[in-house]
Amino acid sequence: MSQPTSSQKYALFWADLRWLLFWMALGALVGWYYEAIAWGIIAALVLFHLLRLYALQRFSQWVKSPIQTPPPEMSGGLTFVATQLYQSRSKEQITQQKMMGLVKKIRSSLLALQDAVILLDAEDRLEWWNQAAEKMLVLRSEDQGDSIFNLIPLPEFHEYYLNATAPNDGIRLNSWKDAARYVQCEVTHFGDEKLLLIYDVTRLQHLEQMRKDFVANVSHELRTPLTVIMGYIETFADQPDIDPKWQRGFSLMSQQTRRMNSIINDLLMLSRLENEEKPEPQCVDMPKLLTHLFDDAQIYNKDYGHLIDLHLDSQANIYGSEMYLNSALLNLVTNAIKYTPKGGEISISWTAVKEGCVLVVSDTGIGIAPEHIERLTERFYRVDSGRSRGTGGTGLGLAIVKHVLYQHEATLKIESSETHGSTFKVFFPESRICKGCNDVGPIEYWGQGDVDSEESTDDQDK
Ligand code: ADP
Repeated sequence: MSQPTSSQKYALFWADLRWLLFWMALGALVGWYYEAIAWGIIAALVLFHLLRLYALQRFSQWVKSPIQTPPPEMSGGLTFVATQLYQSRSKEQITQQKMMGLVKKIRSSLLALQDAVILLDAEDRLEWWNQAAEKMLVLRSEDQGDSIFNLIPLPEFHEYYLNATAPNDGIRLNSWKDAARYVQCEVTHFGDEKLLLIYDVTRLQHLEQMRKDFVANVSHELRTPLTVIMGYIETFADQPDIDPKWQRGFSLMSQQTRRMNSIINDLLMLSRLENEEKPEPQCVDMPKLLTHLFDDAQIYNKDYGHLIDLHLDSQANIYGSEMYLNSALLNLVTNAIKYTPKGGEISISWTAVKEGCVLVVSDTGIGIAPEHIERLTERFYRVDSGRSRGTGGTGLGLAIVKHVLYQHEATLKIESSETHGSTFKVFFPESRICKGCNDVGPIEYWGQGDVDSEESTDDQDK
């Protein structure tokens, strides 16, 4: 109930005072008539109190009555109090009824949902669930109060559930009740309680698998004919007596077939990564890998003449796949080279930080406008497709980077501003660092490619 305002407080005071003055005046009048004014006033005061007690009695009975009963007729301030109380109780009742209606609607819509909805208490025990949950998870009334970890006994679910923050994309699981089905679980916290949504994504999973298989099969099937075509084109192009009018044609065919070959190789790599063909994890010697990468970058840099430097501030090694890591990091370095105008500066550094290790590739290149940054890791997404094609890009490099980093539990952060260059930071968590490696202090490498005056970067493969 809301607090009375100051005008309401005075209204109550006046209502009572008026009534008291009326009785005192009446007592004085009657007393004057009988020549005993004081007795008249005393008698009036007694009568006033008796009436007051009677009114209080009626008030207390009314308070106990059903909420919709209007207040009885009472004298003085009590009428005022009762009217106020009645009005606020009526308002509260209307709000309560509305809330109840809303709760009922929510409840019935949750019951009608095709997706399983489970309400969990602060101790992660089942509190309420809808019919879909009952069917999907074969729940019975005895399960109420049971732990969610008993209901879904998968370690990956436990990990997701315990670390989920809002908002999150959920986790896709192979159903533990039926191996042929897939479900998506999403947990939302509200206060101490949680809402768990589970929906069937079997069809979506099949469609995604079909898409992955299709891309993998097409890429695989195209590889052999393309290798044959590439071989013949190169053989013909190398003929000394080739007619000069065919020379440009052969050179273009050779360039384009090499580009197709790069796309097919990248698609196959992505398919392998997507199908989670996880290679045997090994302790990857990161300083060695980065030194090789630096040497490869120098070869690629020949046509650009950038100043490339490598800072190995840490000797930490990473638990993962050397082949995939090399491919992802080479993509970042070749991008830095490709998207920096000739004579720029590229820096590669490997540093230990509080949360693990970070690899930074920064350049002084063309940069990326903020609206593109979010989408860069999508397949075939290019800021400027003409320029990308010109540099021999496939549009799949950063998609590969994303998948490789995901497999290594690493995260990618892109900082860039147009014309000022870009910085790609890869964070590897502490858990990915191979133990037992000694830090022998910083090592630095410097190198500058020769600037080639001719535009001959088109056929560079990543
Ligand atoms: P591509 O093969 O076209 O280089 P990527 O997936 O490697 O494809 O990169 C996607 C797009 O991101 C590129 O087309 C380019 O526009 C942009 N990009 C990537 N790295 C850089 C960089 N270091 N500087 C500027 N733009 C970049």
